[in-house]
Amino acid sequence: MAKVLIIGAGGVGNVVTHKCAQIQSVFSEILLASRTKEKCDAIAASVDHPNLSTAQVNADQSSEVSALIKDFQPDIVINVALPYQDLPIMDACLEMGVNYLDTANYEPPDEAKFEYKWQWAYHERYKQAGLTAILGCGFDPGVTGVFTAYALKHYFDEIHYLDIVDCNAGNHGQAFATNFNPEINIREITQNGRYYKHGDWVEVEPFAIHRPIHYPEIGPRESYLLYHEELESLVKNVPTIKRARFWMTFSESYINHLKVLENVGLTRIEPIEYEGQQIVPLQFLKAVLPQPSSLGQTYEGQTSIGCHIRGIKDGQERSYYVYNNCDHAEAFKEVGAQAIAYTTGVPAMIGALLVATGEWQGAGVFNVEQMNPDPFMEKLGTYGLPWHEVFDASEFTD
Ligand code: NDP
Repeated sequence: MAKVLIIGAGGVGNVVTHKCAQIQSVFSEILLASRTKEKCDAIAASVDHPNLSTAQVNADQSSEVSALIKDFQPDIVINVALPYQDLPIMDACLEMGVNYLDTANYEPPDEAKFEYKWQWAYHERYKQAGLTAILGCGFDPGVTGVFTAYALKHYFDEIHYLDIVDCNAGNHGQAFATNFNPEINIREITQNGRYYKHGDWVEVEPFAIHRPIHYPEIGPRESYLLYHEELESLVKNVPTIKRARFWMTFSESYINHLKVLENVGLTRIEPIEYEGQQIVPLQFLKAVLPQPSSLGQTYEGQTSIGCHIRGIKDGQERSYYVYNNCDHAEAFKEVGAQAIAYTTGVPAMIGALLVATGEWQGAGVFNVEQMNPDPFMEKLGTYGLPWHEVFDASEFTD
């Protein structure tokens, strides 16, 4: 029996709350807290759990999070607010002696740069305190790290090439919208692309490298090389990797919209003065775009995310592909969310469940691939994200 504090009441927070509430034998009490309490209350009204309460918190202030923890005494905090709140929430967990889990690594608000160094710097302090912090436990990062760890444990002696492929073949009927927080999403995809090759990072212009990739049940889709945060931890934790890349699909229309928004300055993160007020253009853009959580109602089609892995086993070269397809409309029917929020929220709940039940243990700060992948893989299918394997038929030969 565990008490869980969920921070963040957006699309992902909604899914995490629904999924935790489905497992009352483990998550006996839930507190959902966020900046806007009304959003927590709206989620709570759609969830069936006898011990679910809500609270207001500004998680930029670790003292506010500490006060909430002191009051509620959770066993674990699931942070599904924004990456900017990672450090204050980690500080509060450390101060109050509570385990921590998130789905996105810290980035400073004034610089579009995500890196694990800020959170890895907490390792010794969490270790000394005997606490567990699990970083990046959504789908990507998250399941993609577990997929890689599972492949290494069961099918490879050494992994040499890793290509993570992420396709959203869904249609929400909007001209332009992002599938999770627009500010975080646009900061991520307008950065330079970057991939790992023989110990170095190769940097390229945004959207410069692309190719059609075949996705199961979907077909070929143009996919663009992006820098994604799990690449940083995976090449550290799986040091035999010679090359690691991340690919994501975008439609031509999406890229055209983005280019126009960039060209007119609306994706900028430096504040500008407007009628006597400081505003950040990207935050203004976020305010006028559709809320990602509102897209679910009309969303059709599937996401398909997986890992193409090549390496050696018993001296022989082999390839392996492991993936999940998730249907937007099915996710909406179950928890009132589109598939991007669903595929992020389910793994966050599973990670928290494994920490709460002691199946994932360790004192310190860990990325998911450092944990035993087996119980996680077993639970993925049970809780809504079935996965499939393809052996020795790689999409990638180069
Ligand atoms: P949303 O913008 O929908 O929700 C974010 C929530 O956090 C909102 O409820 C917001 O409150 C709340 N929040 C923001 N600032 C604060 C604060 N200072 N104190 C307390 N609460 C705050 O985002 P998503 O649900 O789409 O994404 C949530 C997280 O999941 C993000 O970090 C995102 O990067 C990550 N993610 C990870 C993925 C993965 O696969 N690993 C994929 C997709 C997302 P308010 O409503 O008042 O603004």
